[in-house]
Amino acid sequence: MTIFEKIIKGEIPAYKIYEDDVVYSFLDAKPHNIGHILVIPKDPYPILSDIPDEILQHLIVVVKKIAINTQKVLNADGYHILMNNGEKADQTVPHAHFHIVPRSDGDNNLYTKIIDLGLEVSDFKSLQEKLSL
Ligand code: AMP
Repeated sequence: MTIFEKIIKGEIPAYKIYEDDVVYSFLDAKPHNIGHILVIPKDPYPILSDIPDEILQHLIVVVKKIAINTQKVLNADGYHILMNNGEKADQTVPHAHFHIVPRSDGDNNLYTKIIDLGLEVSDFKSLQEKLSL
């Protein structure tokens, strides 16, 4: 059982923000900024691609509602919506979750490291060809 399932069951304490039949939301215990919130499906789908579309559709609408409310209440300038999928992508809890991280002028430059990969036009065209759906 993941730590998030234990939170949903009340076996581990957490600061609940929202709950309905399929979604649960709570404050991140090690926030990257004030108001960092996690939003999860109650069923423990490991990553995004495991979440059935109808649940994901509801989940993302809840993420939107919580993000809007959080930005308003904290008077934040913006917010990140983040999702790590897989260990190599920094996922530490294998129960799919969206992070909502409020951002304001003057806070730390979180998540904004820009790396120049030196891609040429041909690289972009080749990627477009491979990845277009
Ligand atoms: P990720 O690295 O995307 O898997 O994110 C997992 C997040 O879960 C991290 O930001 C942790 O701080 C958070 N987290 C882990 N355990 C708890 C907990 N017991 N209560 C609240 N947040 C937690």
